[in-house]
Amino acid sequence: RVRTRFAPSPTGFIHLGNIRSALYPWAYARHHGGDFILRIEDTDTERSSEEAVQVILQAMDWLGLDYDEGPFYQMQRMPRYREVLDQLRQSGMVYPCYMSTAELDALREQQLAAKQKPRYDGTWRPEPGKVLPTIPEGVQPVWRFKTPTTGVVAWHDFVKGRVEIRNEELDDLVVARPDGTPTYNFCVVVDDIDMQITDVIRGDDHVNNTPRQLHIFQALGAKPPRYAHLPTVLNEQGEKLSKRNGAKSVLQYRDEGYLPDAVVNYLARLGWSHGDAEIFSRAQFLEWFDLDHLGSSPAQFDEAKLRWVNAHYIKHTPAEELAALVRPLLDKDGIAHQTPDLAAVCALLHDRAQTLPELAQQTLLFYRPTAPDAAALEQHLGAQGKAAAADFLAQLTALHDWSREAISAALKSVLKQHGLKMPQLAMPVRLMVTGREQTPAVDAVLALLGRDTVVQRLEKYLG
Ligand code: GLU
Repeated sequence: RVRTRFAPSPTGFIHLGNIRSALYPWAYARHHGGDFILRIEDTDTERSSEEAVQVILQAMDWLGLDYDEGPFYQMQRMPRYREVLDQLRQSGMVYPCYMSTAELDALREQQLAAKQKPRYDGTWRPEPGKVLPTIPEGVQPVWRFKTPTTGVVAWHDFVKGRVEIRNEELDDLVVARPDGTPTYNFCVVVDDIDMQITDVIRGDDHVNNTPRQLHIFQALGAKPPRYAHLPTVLNEQGEKLSKRNGAKSVLQYRDEGYLPDAVVNYLARLGWSHGDAEIFSRAQFLEWFDLDHLGSSPAQFDEAKLRWVNAHYIKHTPAEELAALVRPLLDKDGIAHQTPDLAAVCALLHDRAQTLPELAQQTLLFYRPTAPDAAALEQHLGAQGKAAAADFLAQLTALHDWSREAISAALKSVLKQHGLKMPQLAMPVRLMVTGREQTPAVDAVLALLGRDTVVQRLEKYLG
């Protein structure tokens, strides 16, 4: 059974690139009918906060990334890590190291001066026949992992293919600090074992941790998971997406009126593909998603494309649902939106907005009429237009049934009678009725506004 996880560090900010590391393992688990687990990696107590956890939970909830187990918190699992550390002590896989920070710094200086890569030199590593230095008094040791010194560590990565590291490149990792607290790579492995993770899908900023983690799996006699390291997401300037570089938080997209399905669709394509498909439903995505079509080069975030995808989703959201999303925005601005009916208005305008606030703005056409610019109206109307508009008004007043079709027929007959082209009448009518030059088809707008409103507004200029 496939089991994947999202393991964020709650440090207060989560951008689209971060949440993509939740979307893919979620989709992989769902595709295979497996489990998706949420694990909060909060051992960096200085940088972690409960508030930041809430941000993560809200972002996942908003995007509909549901988890089957968790959230687990690493800080609550300390006793378990200590237990496993004891196991490693007993099997002799870790050893105490008393090298002081000053000594480590000196070693580092020396190695840098000799143009070597700084690494721990194994001073305290026990070997058969080796005499260890005398243990200094009153010093609590760190515990280091006995990394094999020869051979290679290798894995098959879904994105990178076979990755192989020579063990001599790795030094003996600190797995426990002097106060006994376990370190990051160690906790990750214990968790991935205990949570029976089969597939780790994470950002490739962790690829350097993988060989170290594989060694710990082996030392604990556990089968390691499969790995997929996702290439970074770059911003539009080609830099790594980060708060510092101006990336927005996931929740900001929610607040700016993006639809969760649109964001999921957009993120799905940001590093994965299924042929040329750009727009697909969540269900379709889950049916298609697998690890064999992950991109191997960094994906570039493109807000214009996200807006385009969002526009598509707005257009295809049922009018009643759209109205429910737009209503609070109008309420917030104190805009009365009873007549015409908001759902009908949304149905008419749904292809003219890329975000919900833009759609709300469009609806003002109906809820906040403005007076047209007098000069512009005069220019569009002209003497000929005025006579035609007056005839049109007369026809509207007498219309048998107030429907878009009937209005359209009246409009056409007046045009014919006066020998005018559509814009010569439609534009001034539009201006008089809405105060705007840009609206959907004028017959549709009038039909929605209702006879009383339309007649009243036209009379103001033609009476
Ligand atoms: N906590 C790590 C992060 O936020 C993820 C670790 C992992 O996925 O193995 O980047």
